[in-house]
Amino acid sequence: MADTASQLPPLRDVIARFGLGARKSLGQHFLLDLNLTGRIARAAPDLVHGTVIEIGPGPGGLTRALLAEGAAQLIAVEKDRRCLEALTELAGHYPGRLELVEGDALALPLPQLGQPPRQIVSNLPYNISTALLINWLETLAGDPAAFSSMTLMFQKEVAERLTAEPGNRHYGRLTIITQWLCEVRPLFDIPPRAFTPPPKVTSSVVSFRPRPSPLATASLKNLERVTAAAFGQRRKMLRQSLKSLFENCSETIESLGLLPTARAEELSVEDFCSLARLLDNTSANGA
Ligand code: SAM
Repeated sequence: MADTASQLPPLRDVIARFGLGARKSLGQHFLLDLNLTGRIARAAPDLVHGTVIEIGPGPGGLTRALLAEGAAQLIAVEKDRRCLEALTELAGHYPGRLELVEGDALALPLPQLGQPPRQIVSNLPYNISTALLINWLETLAGDPAAFSSMTLMFQKEVAERLTAEPGNRHYGRLTIITQWLCEVRPLFDIPPRAFTPPPKVTSSVVSFRPRPSPLATASLKNLERVTAAAFGQRRKMLRQSLKSLFENCSETIESLGLLPTARAEELSVEDFCSLARLLDNTSANGA
């Protein structure tokens, strides 16, 4: 495998030969440092079994690393047609291991690609990184086995929201939904200068391990409703911010052993699930 990797042309040559100037509209910031792409690939668990789905391979830096680290069945989904020609050449170096899919990752049903277990690995296009994550979380809410893991790079600010603890200023709706469904771990940061062209902010790689079942019972719809209300007015006390959802708001909050004077960021994921379950049973909430 190392032999194959050493036969490949430098990524800068590939970019020049195929005219892959970075497009801002596609969130293109390429990683050309093989040490870093190797580090991300090694952070992904068990590349050998099942299917590795890479979103946005671009010129193929991370793709090469995943193959060199042993990915046996890699499906790379890329929207930019210019990159596909370059990637076809890479696929030729790894017969039967790299499949290319031209398309929009926001529109593709990833659980239909390849064989399970499926994992996602990506240096995500930043302009749609949270939209993609929310799609995949919705998939996991319906089927916790849809993805065995996700190893994803975000802007550090998004990574902080995903991994925040209660009381932290980054703790919010995305934190709750993500941690409800997945064990989330920050792995390491990558500075802007490592990318071509450099983005404005630092990036962070985050590991997601979907839980076999969500942390506590709740419907995604009502968890979203209750977190939207609570964090929509995050500085307000719950008795105020949840008023539109529960008729006897303070009593309802107290019945769960929570303080009506608490603020959203003081509640745990399980607390929000308790509130969401109450919505399941309440008819006076417009559900
Ligand atoms: N993986 C490469 C790397 O690490 O150097 C490129 C990462 S770059 C941050 C994001 C990639 O996602 C680009 O190649 C871009 O064309 C692709 N992309 C952007 N929007 C996409 C979409 N909706 N579906 C699939 N790929 C997309």
